[in-house]
Amino acid sequence: KLSKRLAKVASFVPTGAVVADIGSDHAYLPCYLVQQGIISQAVAGEVVKGPYESARRQVRAEGLANQIQVRLADGLAAVEQEDHVDTITIAGMGGPLIVSILEKHPEVLRSVTRLILQPNIHAKVIRQWALAQGWAILDEVILEEDDKIYEILVLQRGAMSLTDAEILLGSHLIAQRSAAFVQKWTKEIENWQRILQDLNKAEATPDIQAKREELQQLIQLVGGV
Ligand code: SAM
Repeated sequence: KLSKRLAKVASFVPTGAVVADIGSDHAYLPCYLVQQGIISQAVAGEVVKGPYESARRQVRAEGLANQIQVRLADGLAAVEQEDHVDTITIAGMGGPLIVSILEKHPEVLRSVTRLILQPNIHAKVIRQWALAQGWAILDEVILEEDDKIYEILVLQRGAMSLTDAEILLGSHLIAQRSAAFVQKWTKEIENWQRILQDLNKAEATPDIQAKREELQQLIQLVGGV
């Protein structure tokens, strides 16, 4: 059974899409999508030999080798033009790694109309990248599973404008104001306040001063939402 997190990622894949799941590990996501009849073709990319082998094993065990191409490659290099991939999923990595994967092979993105990205941390860098690269956020979800909080961002081409608070928190997530969202940012603010208190005890060097101001601004930004 798919995790709640990956099931939510799957829910944003359009029917009939051709999907590349990058960093697929066991290829659970593409296997699920094909088995559910949501898609009929996918690529599962892995850069590490062990997870690549598990993906191959899983795809073969489920009898899906004709539908899912498992490839050992770095990021979007797993995608070939003849695949006609239109949807890319990247889940379970940090935001900066996801962005570096997207930036490395821009030619692959040309035929892609939807990105479904699930950063474990630092979703902010994905929103900044999207804003700069002409992607708009179609939807966002924040969810809790096994005491961890995950964000999912669904991007399609288009212009958007975001405030600083929206880049950090997500405009859709601000509007939804779910329990997981409140929990995440309440904890972050408490954490920043704790650091700030420690810094207030330290000698006020320019570095410390700058860090304090940065934290104060963050607390104000997030607290004001
Ligand atoms: N996507 C699955 C999920 O969300 O459950 C697996 C997540 S797992 C934590 C991250 C996977 O990404 C690892 O198997 C790792 O080998 C792979 N990975 C990391 N960097 C990659 C890259 N540049 N290209 C392809 N795969 C990568």
